[in-house]
This record gives sequence, structure tokens and C-alpha cells, in this order.
Amino acid sequence: MDYKELKLETQLAQAGIRMDEQTGALVSPIHFSTTYQHPEFGQSTGFDYTRTKNPTRTNLERTLAAIEGADYAMATSSGMSALMLAMEIFPVGAKVLACRDLYGGSFRWFDKVEQQGRFRFVYANTEDDMLTLLDETVDVVFIETPTNPLMNEFDIATIARKAKTVGAKTVVDNTFYTPIYQRPIELGADLVIHSATKYLGGHNDVLAGAVITNDQAIYDQLFFNLNTTGIVLSPFDSYMLMRGLKTLKLRMEKATANARDLVSHLENSPHIKEVLYPGKGGMLSIKLQDERKIPSLLNKLQIFTFAESLGGVESLITYPTTQTHADIPAETRHAYGLTDDLLRLSIGIEDVTDLIWDLEQALAD
Ligand code: PLP
Repeated sequence: MDYKELKLETQLAQAGIRMDEQTGALVSPIHFSTTYQHPEFGQSTGFDYTRTKNPTRTNLERTLAAIEGADYAMATSSGMSALMLAMEIFPVGAKVLACRDLYGGSFRWFDKVEQQGRFRFVYANTEDDMLTLLDETVDVVFIETPTNPLMNEFDIATIARKAKTVGAKTVVDNTFYTPIYQRPIELGADLVIHSATKYLGGHNDVLAGAVITNDQAIYDQLFFNLNTTGIVLSPFDSYMLMRGLKTLKLRMEKATANARDLVSHLENSPHIKEVLYPGKGGMLSIKLQDERKIPSLLNKLQIFTFAESLGGVESLITYPTTQTHADIPAETRHAYGLTDDLLRLSIGIEDVTDLIWDLEQALAD
């Protein structure tokens, strides 16, 4: 049966297997060789030089494309390189309509390229704003949903449908929900990107990104830039990412179950003003009644780790004001609701009673 036709869980569990016909190795070998012998003059095995194509990376890319329901995937050196690769296909001066609440690093790059005149940007706080702003002048729509860290959902199908009618391409950062909860290509998106460093890898030990599309013309442009810049994922990290992917569904389900339990608990805490949770996935944010408590809370935690990043098996807590979103000017952040009383939590797969205990003891006066 064609791998692409298999159910998502099967594609994940069988990531990269049975790809080495010569030895029958079950698990994907790690091909470190940067170059490949030509069988004869004028012939190629399909692999010539690793910047262009590497067998381990190819095995991974097959899974990345399949799980997003697409034909093409490229594994890149980081989520940021995936973002740059995806956006670089658009012409100088293109107008990008993006959601306002974005990963700080994406905003930082958008801001820089806007200053350089590379792209023009318009930002939308809500889905309604985005639909209103989406007219014939827009070339690219960039959506991160749920948004980071306010956890607002944008309806990809509605936006992508309207984008098509005005001739704009839709790019979705699917890092938070992953294909377990959201498959943007099937909802009409033209390009999907991931920080695979997060849920796809799942163990906080691989820096990686992915760009996925169903459109051959888009793929050809992406591939030209990928091969030119060499922002590819290394063979070892490609292997690590495949290994992580095998348990994606189990990890997402457990993170969701833990997050839901934690949310019901946190909603009743007198120390918490607001819990922001979209209902699925392992990401949530809390706003504290008293933001002066934040330093002591972060110091007191024993099971949650105070660190950047998200999506791993271990629970992490982040203070966007000084970490992930520090490059967004304070007035801008505050205006759209990213206030200094907000903490972002990435819920792992631990026993939830330990997580509840940890937050309770750290919040206590
Ligand atoms: N997109 C989102 C939603 C992220 O959270 C991040 C990283 O934190 C990135 C992109 C960038 O990915 P990376 O850190 O792998 O370069």
C-alpha cells in the first residue's frame, strides 16, 4: 500500500522504516556521506551531493509530506530557516497580511525585512480583522494558529478560501497544533511551515524546521533556494526527528489530556486572572492576578522548567516578556493583549498531579 494512503498514526509509527533495500535495515540508516559515487559516467543513484539530497533526509521528508497530506516536504535546519525559505519565494515589495500575535522571532524578521523594503506588512488582531483586510492588494497571508502566546484560533479554511479569490497565497505555521489537530493543506493553505524543534521532534534535542506544499511550482522555487543556501537538516538530526515523530500522536494526546486537567484546576485558582487555552494541544497561557509574583513563581518551580521553547515531553514555562517575545516593542505587545502578567506553559507528558502540585506550591504566598 502507498505510504501516503496510510492512516496518520501508521505513517508516524512507520516513519523512515524499510527504506534500505540493500541491507533490509528496518530503521532508517544515517547517511553521513556528503558525496555519492556515480555508477557510470552520466549516471546517478539519485543522490549526488548532500546539500541537494541526502537519503536520511529524504526518508524524513517522505513522512513530513505524508502527515500533512501533501506531495512535497523539505527538512530545514530550524523553524526560522523554514520561515525564511517559505517567504523568500515571494517577490520584493509583496504585501503580507499576518496575524498580530506571532512568535517573537517571526515578528523580529518581519520587522527587519519591512525596514529593508523587502516586504510590506499589515497585521490583524482577530480573524474578522484579517478577513476585512484581505483584499486584492494582499499577496501573502501568514497565519500562526493558535496564536502565540494568546492562543486565539484563526479559521484556516475561511481565510484560505478568501485568499484564493483575491489571488493571495496562504502560509500557515502549524507548530502548535501539528497535523494531529490541524492539516492546513487540506484546509486550502499553499504552504505549511513548522518549527520541528517543538512537537514534531518532541524531546528538546533537535533544532529543525519543515516546509511543506502540494504545489509543484512552489516546490521548485523552494528547492532552488534550499539547494542554493544549504539550510538543510543534517543526517543525524533527520534521524532524530524521525525517531521523535513516531510517538507524535501519543505525546499530543497525553499533553492535551494534561493541559485540560490543568486548565480546570487553574481556572479555580485565586492567583490567576485568566487562563488562555484553545481546547486542544499542550500549549496554554495564564495571566496572574499579581504580576510581581512572576520572579518568585519561576524560582520556586520544581517540576516545570523555566526555559524557552515548547512541545517536548517535559513541561516548560516561559515568560514571553523577557524571552520569546522580548523583541516586540512593549507598547505593541500591550496593545494586542500580550501583557507583562502573562506566562506561557508547554505541558508535557508527566503525571498531571505532579504538575498541579508544582504550580500550586509556586503560586502560594
Ligand atoms: N514558529 C513558532 C510558532 C515557534 O514557536 C518558533 C520557535 O520558538 C519558531 C517558529 C522558530 O523555530 P526554531 O526555533 O526551530 O527556529
